Amino acid sequence: MAFTLPDLPYPSNALEPHITANTLSFHHGKHHKAYVDNLNKLVAGTDLEKKTLEELIQLSAGDPAKAGIFNNAAQVWNHTFYWHSMKPAGGGEPKGELATKINADFGSFDKFKEEFKNAGATQFGSGWAWLVLDGGKLKVTKTPNAEVPSTKGQIPILTMDVWEHAYYLDFQNRRPDYMETFLTKLVNWDFAAENLQKALKKKAA
Ligand code: MN
Repeated sequence: MAFTLPDLPYPSNALEPHITANTLSFHHGKHHKAYVDNLNKLVAGTDLEKKTLEELIQLSAGDPAKAGIFNNAAQVWNHTFYWHSMKPAGGGEPKGELATKINADFGSFDKFKEEFKNAGATQFGSGWAWLVLDGGKLKVTKTPNAEVPSTKGQIPILTMDVWEHAYYLDFQNRRPDYMETFLTKLVNWDFAAENLQKALKKKAA
């Protein structure tokens, strides 16, 4: 079974004026699609073809001989997770259990925002900023290139793509402006809250 490019969870112009249809159509239709196509080429005719995306990521992580598979599989996963980490008319503040846990684990929502933006700003070159659940605590982390927190036992709750292709057409070199816009206008706290709930349930089971 070949891997397929999932549809965006909203029309490509739905995040305008913050992220334009031009950016989203290139990012999804060219970049994300290329990772899917490359992955399909790499696993075609091998026993890896039948693995899930998550299985491929775990079994290729840290193996230099499988770097191509890891990079493409992880980037397919990361981008799908990123699309859901945003929504039209997003932003605002988290509610309920997620809000309580952010306050408990970071001190305040403002402190979380500061750490999250700092992670994105200090990721040299390409990569990702993340909110993760790690040993029962919410943490902010960053990963280079295609790296995913799940290979280190952390459960992803939310992500922000800080590869230049995510923002360059709309923000040029102004990564801080893109990150501020992500947090104030786009972030999907409902998605993050669902991920936290699932992660806590799994942990308790
Ligand atoms: Mn990207």
